[in-house]
Amino acid sequence: MIDAPAGAIPRKEKKGPPRDHTTIGTAARPDFVRLPDVTTLFAARARRFAELAAANQPLAPFLLFLSHLAEVQHRTQAALPATGPLRRQDILSADSLRERIAWLVQHAAMEGAPAATEQARERLAAMPAVERLALAGAVLDGVCSPDRLAEGLYIAAALQVHLTGFASRLEASRIVRAVDGFCPACGSRPVASMIVGWANAAGTRYCCCSMCGTLWNVVRAKCTSCASTAGMSYASLEGQSTEIAAEICADCNHYIKHFRQDRTAAIDPFADDIASLGLDLRMQATGIRRATANPLMVIR
Ligand SMILES: [Zn+2]
Ligand SMILES: [Zn+2]
Repeated sequence: MIDAPAGAIPRKEKKGPPRDHTTIGTAARPDFVRLPDVTTLFAARARRFAELAAANQPLAPFLLFLSHLAEVQHRTQAALPATGPLRRQDILSADSLRERIAWLVQHAAMEGAPAATEQARERLAAMPAVERLALAGAVLDGVCSPDRLAEGLYIAAALQVHLTGFASRLEASRIVRAVDGFCPACGSRPVASMIVGWANAAGTRYCCCSMCGTLWNVVRAKCTSCASTAGMSYASLEGQSTEIAAEICADCNHYIKHFRQDRTAAIDPFADDIASLGLDLRMQATGIRRATANPLMVIR
């Protein structure tokens, strides 16, 4: 549903990782995870999408739509009882997921929404719960079929509310590192990574979960797809903020977006990922594959 911005801009490459400030002076001692706060995450994301829309003409209509959708996600979590404890295998069978899908689909109508997404929302509103849950399973596994992507967008939004609510009630101290490249809270793939400026972790890197918003610490200059530490390079678009780069692994030919939240505190890795679609298109044109998932990024 997103049209490519006109005129891809040549990329600028530099070799080697950015300097890691954690090795200079007093080393930071970062927490392994930072759990999301479901009561604030979607409201903040809605504001960030709106800010990004004001600065990104080609994508403004879609970014404004996603700002509205994030507001609906915020209202969904506020309107329904909290998500109880969950195991990964129980995510799809929880009553709270059914409730969140139904509430969000019912309340997500938006004047000026892209026609294809509004029609998808209406199809979802008429769809039996069991079919919606089957679609949720496909979205969660990253195998939503291309002809269901618009429906998948609303389902992903409800899954995010469901899993963020779940993750926000976990105890950080009890969470252990999962397999490289997967969220230790809900088992999903990261959407992007960022360098943070937090007091106890300045200059360190965190991956952000594409579903529950949990942030987990990952060493810098290590591929989040194959764990290689050799042959990493960075590319960004000329004319675009230097706070956004693609970290490219020469071993597996995948990239992950790399945001400098330490320089721009308002960065939301999820929203800024979609707003920097031009970088994905540039990578796609050079044959480098995206390592991460963004269930709301629907590229035509
Ligand atoms: Zn997660
Ligand atoms: Zn790799």
